[in-house]
Amino acid sequence: MPAPMMDTYAPPDLVFDHGKGPRLFTAAGDGYLDFISGIAVNCLGHAHPKAVAALSEQAGKLWHLSNMFKVPAGIELAEKLTKATFADRVFFTNSGAEAMECALKTARRYHYVNGNPQRYRIITFTGAFHGRTYGAINAGGNPKYLEGFGPAMEGFDQVEFGDLDAVKNAISDETAAICVEPVQGEGGVRAPEDSFLRGLRQLCDEHGLMLIYDEVQSGAGRTGKLFAHQWVDGAEPDIMAAAKGIGGGFPMGACLATEAAAEGMVVGTHGSTYGGGPLAMAVGNVVFDELTSDGFLDQVVEVSNYLTQQLHGLMDRHADKVEEVRGKGLLIGMKLKPGFDPKKLAGLARDRHLLIGAAGDNVSRLAPPLVITKDDASEAVAVLDEALGALEATA
Ligand SMILES: *Cc1c(COP(=O)(O)O)cnc(C)c1O
Repeated sequence: MPAPMMDTYAPPDLVFDHGKGPRLFTAAGDGYLDFISGIAVNCLGHAHPKAVAALSEQAGKLWHLSNMFKVPAGIELAEKLTKATFADRVFFTNSGAEAMECALKTARRYHYVNGNPQRYRIITFTGAFHGRTYGAINAGGNPKYLEGFGPAMEGFDQVEFGDLDAVKNAISDETAAICVEPVQGEGGVRAPEDSFLRGLRQLCDEHGLMLIYDEVQSGAGRTGKLFAHQWVDGAEPDIMAAAKGIGGGFPMGACLATEAAAEGMVVGTHGSTYGGGPLAMAVGNVVFDELTSDGFLDQVVEVSNYLTQQLHGLMDRHADKVEEVRGKGLLIGMKLKPGFDPKKLAGLARDRHLLIGAAGDNVSRLAPPLVITKDDASEAVAVLDEALGALEATA
């Protein structure tokens, strides 16, 4: 008998049964410190009491309506999101890729309703990741994710991440938008200079382009601001995709836009059966309220500074294996030297009951729940110290 599930993933033989805060447990009660949190998703940790209460209460009342009817909790969350950001309008989705689809469609539609239907091309960047739908793999441009899925979709121009001149040269009278992750996750946890985002904003203003941010991974408090671009003055987008952390583990995403950018998204232009449903919105409000509660993001900054400092110490101790510590806030990359494999390091850490991830560019990825303490951080660094000690070069 073949395995019943498609071979698109290769998980280890380790099954978790429940979680609490930053820890996961097997059915036998074996505990693991979770420093990847479902890839930057469980920002409040596992089984956060307020989120559990909101979801349980809603589950007993009403699960689903479709968008044929109003969902008041969705209107409430959209109001909160627009008050806290550049945006005036929100469209809720179930995932990050769908939030990106909405962002790309919104950008093209903006030019369409403004009499420029020929403006449809989107400038994207090397190392980008925008999800796995057909539009999103084409926007991301990673050849590995495009292979075997038919002709590449027209309309994306990829340039080097961080290179403003390359962007300038790629702009034509068919360009609709520039789309970028303010901190690249999948591509290797790369934070560009602030001047890069500011430069993109200027280019968009000069050429009448939409600036799209993919904050699916970098948003939801991950970097110590509600959204990563809010660290940079003068670099607000027109459109933004969010997901992952904004649901804290309940599937949801959102496309945010200014009033002007959303102009073309009128009745009938876009839709989703599940997006913005009562269960997701019940949890989404709790997550938003927690992230924006007094001192929460300050604590993220403090613990991330501590963790990053500890990781620099680790890099000094393992200078033969670790090349760089980078990222922003609690989205941290540890680039390994050539010959050392981040997946192997993740396996060695897992053997020692610490869960971490890997990303592109030979990087180990850390994205713990935002609620970790300095003690949790110290514990993780101690385990990583051992795991790095045990890490051997691949032949
Ligand atoms: C994860 C991710 C996506 C895709 O989100 P899904 O919920 O898996 O569809 C898109 N963009 C970025 C930057 C991501 O990290």
